[in-house]
Amino acid sequence: MPDGPNETIFGAILRGEIPSDKVYEDDLVYAFRDINPAAPTHILVIPKKYVVNCMDCGEEDKEMLGHLMVTAAKIAKDEGLEGYRFVINNGGVAGQTVFHLHAHIIGGRDLSWPPG
Ligand code: AMP
Repeated sequence: MPDGPNETIFGAILRGEIPSDKVYEDDLVYAFRDINPAAPTHILVIPKKYVVNCMDCGEEDKEMLGHLMVTAAKIAKDEGLEGYRFVINNGGVAGQTVFHLHAHIIGGRDLSWPPG
């Protein structure tokens, strides 16, 4: 678990230091629109707790991780999506570029499988 300050861009968003297009917020998570959308709907859901990715999580994070997934589904329904891709890139080799855990909600178009 990181003990230092959250120097990522998502840490700055959570602190209100840089703007974001907020979609949803509660005690555990914050959701906002991706600045470079990969589909008509592309929303990021992040925990307010600073963890790097799922590999940085432990037993104590089960509630937050479950909440992240349930909240993403609610947001997708609120957005009117009939389905969506829920993606978490864990580590640079998997495409993670911002090192604060975030789940992508991607939808609004047909999505191919497998991903790249
Ligand atoms: P990942 O590659 O899984 O780490 O995803 C990082 C995502 O964050 C990318 O889809 C970026 O477009 C998005 N992103 C980066 N900076 C911002 C920002 N300031 N506001 C919204 N989305 C951002």
